Amino acid sequence: MAASSSSAATVKPSDHSSPAEETEQETEFCRGFKDAEAFVKHGLGAVVSATKASAALPAAGDEFDLYRSFPAFQQFCSSQGDRLLHCMSQIMQHHGCRSHMRDRNRLTGLEDRFDLVVDSNDAILEKVGILLDEASGVSRTQQPVMPAGYQPPKIVVSSWNRRVGFSGGERREETFHLLHAKNIQRPQLKFKDKVDNSNTPFVSKIFIKPNAVKPLPSYFADKHIRKERPEDLDVPAALADFIHQQRTQEHVDDMFSHPYQYELDHLVMPESLKCKPEVQMYKPLAESTCQFINTLDDLVALNEKLAKVSEFAVDLEHHSYRSFLGITCLMQISTREEDFIIDTLELRSEMYILNETFTDPAIVKVFHGADSDIEWLQKDFGLYVVSMFDTHHAARCLNLGRNSLDHLLKVYCSVNSDKRYQLADWRIRPLPDEMLKYAQADTHYLLYVYDRVRADLFETSNSQPTLIQQVWAKSRDLSLKKYVKPIFTEDSYMELYRKQKRSFNTQQLAAFRLLYAWRDTLGREEDESTGYILPNHMMMKIAEELPKEPQGIMACCNPTPPLVRQQMNELHQLIKQARETPLLKAEVLAEKRKSMTPKRKPQPTSFGPHDTSRSSESDFLDLSSFETPTKPGVLFLEEDESVNQEERSLHMLMCVEDVLSFVLEEEEEAASPAHLSVAQQKAHSIMESFENPFRMVQYFSLVHAFCQIRNRWKLQSIEQQQQEAQEKRQAKEQAKKAQEERKKAKLSYQESLQNVHTVRQQVMEAKQAGQKRESAASDVGEESLKPNSTKPAQKKKNVQEPEVPKQNFKPFDYSKSNFKIFAGKSKESSQFDPNRQAHGPKQKKNQKGQKKSAVGGRSILKYESLLC
Ligand code: AMP
Ligand code: MN
Ligand code: ZN
Repeated sequence: MAASSSSAATVKPSDHSSPAEETEQETEFCRGFKDAEAFVKHGLGAVVSATKASAALPAAGDEFDLYRSFPAFQQFCSSQGDRLLHCMSQIMQHHGCRSHMRDRNRLTGLEDRFDLVVDSNDAILEKVGILLDEASGVSRTQQPVMPAGYQPPKIVVSSWNRRVGFSGGERREETFHLLHAKNIQRPQLKFKDKVDNSNTPFVSKIFIKPNAVKPLPSYFADKHIRKERPEDLDVPAALADFIHQQRTQEHVDDMFSHPYQYELDHLVMPESLKCKPEVQMYKPLAESTCQFINTLDDLVALNEKLAKVSEFAVDLEHHSYRSFLGITCLMQISTREEDFIIDTLELRSEMYILNETFTDPAIVKVFHGADSDIEWLQKDFGLYVVSMFDTHHAARCLNLGRNSLDHLLKVYCSVNSDKRYQLADWRIRPLPDEMLKYAQADTHYLLYVYDRVRADLFETSNSQPTLIQQVWAKSRDLSLKKYVKPIFTEDSYMELYRKQKRSFNTQQLAAFRLLYAWRDTLGREEDESTGYILPNHMMMKIAEELPKEPQGIMACCNPTPPLVRQQMNELHQLIKQARETPLLKAEVLAEKRKSMTPKRKPQPTSFGPHDTSRSSESDFLDLSSFETPTKPGVLFLEEDESVNQEERSLHMLMCVEDVLSFVLEEEEEAASPAHLSVAQQKAHSIMESFENPFRMVQYFSLVHAFCQIRNRWKLQSIEQQQQEAQEKRQAKEQAKKAQEERKKAKLSYQESLQNVHTVRQQVMEAKQAGQKRESAASDVGEESLKPNSTKPAQKKKNVQEPEVPKQNFKPFDYSKSNFKIFAGKSKESSQFDPNRQAHGPKQKKNQKGQKKSAVGGRSILKYESLLC
């Protein structure tokens, strides 16, 4: 990178020029052009005139044929054509692409040539993209950026990062391309709550709603309902989730609503934003303290600090290559006085406590370009933002030309920010100083920028808050954004196919479809991004070439992704299967698909329940277009205990064949129920008993096809089987160790908690009088007013459950801790009101008669006891 950027900046040596010219040329960008702009201008002019000239050529059809009847025209065409082809060949060669443009048979070669051009275009544009990114300080290479000299803790040597062409132990130090992400321990292994990659819509993680005006729906608050997943069913986890959602259909509105919709709808801009802001200078970065937060205790303390300020800045760093849904690795927060960096890998399950300040309408949260941040906060932590100001939207409103943070920093702070680490692998721990500094700088200046843009907005709208109000409204709309999980549908592959603008025949398309589904399944299973499993361009290439041999598949992938290598035989079988598809032109297939679709209800292509732009709620709710023996949403009626599960399955199996014959009419090769295992038959029957909004039927039929192939393959390769078994064993051992460590940590934490608490309590009491806010529904009085609607039986269960530790009890599982507090201790309350979060823990902690206001010190107490 250094080499390429310096070559752009350095002078091209000129061989024959006078000293005067030399100095002149020394400043030239390249020969004949004084700077990049002049070069671009010239290039653009050339392209425009070429386009005009080509448009002026006689059009194909009558006119062209007429002209062609003149030998001179013919000759001109062929000589110019050759010239152009030669020119194109040279460009292609220059970029290292295949380039035999001229030697082709003119009739049959046209298509091939066109392919060559398309391939070269792809390659060249890719390079251009990379160079542009590099020039603007962003590296798009998948390889994560690491600071020079950084040594990751554990280096795993694998075949993938071993350079080809080296034999033996020679030049050992060069066996690594770069310190690759795979050398970093997967943070997912340490997560207390398993990542949910299932092919089901995202459901908010929230279970306590601070600053609520409208209480949290019971679905979220009542862990009992939420946790009641049909684990007992002999079906894949994804399906179990889905069935669960169907069963709890009465909560479907709640499940997919924005928990703070009401509050955001009724949000008013604070008065303080309506007048001309006082610009407050930032502290020099070097003089500012930056606290790294990786314990719950510190996080709680930070939350308390934040509760006392009227605004703070937030940013996130995210990693998406080695995880299916991506992982938020860091949260940076800056107040006017201090900077904080939170290790969100460590505190992932505890981050929700920040909702107290993040949803406080009196505290403005300043973000820059919060689109992704808002989604990541929901996805990973169940965090929401009420009262946000996005400086990116302010920049847009001010027409600053460029709206990036580095531009704002340049304009307002004269700081040249280095965006080198934007795409760094933020999972690295411990974080090198350079990366910490970079992360800190992302929020350090943001409050100052917030002041400055507001001042400019205020001035631009003639000392009126009109524009500020506009940015505020935009930011509020952003806060209302809901995270949408990528959902696999039978059409997902078509979306990607259309984007690639290539024309496949039926075999190629079948291969593409199978590869796409294979990749999706594996990505979810292994928690890897689809790009890591098999990048798009490789997948396209395999589908296009339909290699007969595994080696051919390998040849399409350079470098071969580890999972492709691992599952080579499986892929080989998929391609083989695709090759057996009758050969039809792609258009015929498209027609066939089109004619099929109207039979079913129209489905949005990238459907998600949050994607309200494409589907109405009623679309989503209406799940029952088939006559089925069971009502949708009540597959297993809890009251109906007389009917045993086998009978039900049998009952459903009886109707499944009709449904399947309809849904799978095109998929003759897909498994019929008779060939399925018991588990899969159940899965099918359940799926078919209501119309699946995500068309998971076909997904599972595909999955089933893989399973079959996989099993076949597993029989073939005992060696690989053994290897896989060993890998699994190791992973399990690791997970076990991690769990034990967590248990230990939890124990020691609980011990230390006793002390921390008493100290804190004293501080809290001292501060009590100065408490600033009241949580909307957290006063004691409300407790007695709440109707006592929970079933007594359920309550009893709640009380008992904590005493009987479940077999796979996970420490720090807040779900369990939560209901323990609310059900176990406060006898006078029979129902957990999510908006009274403070009470359970507080009463427990205050047993010794230290009476406090409901709000005083609620954050520590509440969250500490959630962990008990
Ligand atoms: P930022 O808000 O600039 O700190 O970026 C936050 C996160 O967004 C980074 O940690 C990256 O994961 C991701 N990101 C930022 N810029 C890009 C980009 N150009 N391409 C892909 N991801 C990006
Ligand atoms: Mn950001
Ligand atoms: Zn950032």
